[in-house]
Amino acid sequence: MKESPWEINIANIKEEGFDLALDLESDWFSRWQEEVPGLEFTGPGSISGNIHLEKHGQEILLRGHLEGTLPLSCSRCLAAYAEPVAVDFDLLLEPGPEPAVAEEELTAEELDLDFYQGDVVDLEKYLREQVLLMLPLKPLCAETCKGLCPRCGADLNRESCRCEAEETVSPLAAALAKLKK
Ligand SMILES: [Zn+2]
Ligand SMILES: [Zn+2]
Repeated sequence: MKESPWEINIANIKEEGFDLALDLESDWFSRWQEEVPGLEFTGPGSISGNIHLEKHGQEILLRGHLEGTLPLSCSRCLAAYAEPVAVDFDLLLEPGPEPAVAEEELTAEELDLDFYQGDVVDLEKYLREQVLLMLPLKPLCAETCKGLCPRCGADLNRESCRCEAEETVSPLAAALAKLKK
């Protein structure tokens, strides 16, 4: 059996619960990126936090807090930047195999329910899910990012190009301006 610091034996979850401090850094992110190429973030993030596990009969309550930064690329200007992220989560883990449900059918409520197999809770899976949930749908290096010019590709945060000036004058307005001269 592989040794993983993320595999918590259920027998080790005592009455008072089980607490774990986390520091997810380069190693953790690199391994993930090796296993799942094409992740949206552009390099290793830096996430710290803590996990609390509680046994309630067969069910396990997994409560956690994560915060830190994830390296993303801006959806407007494509520049790499560090997105500050934070999440608090509660997951109810039930024993048994994951039911076969297409992902788009999952509602927000169902996302709080998860599954574990055997006598081990593999935290890695749940941590990865939470990190993915923290990703913004539309990453932006700054709310005010001006993006790239759709015509010439210039980064409008750093330089202004001539395209915009030409575009704001419509052909009709230009024709009228000529007539007036
Ligand atoms: Zn940007
Ligand atoms: Zn331009």
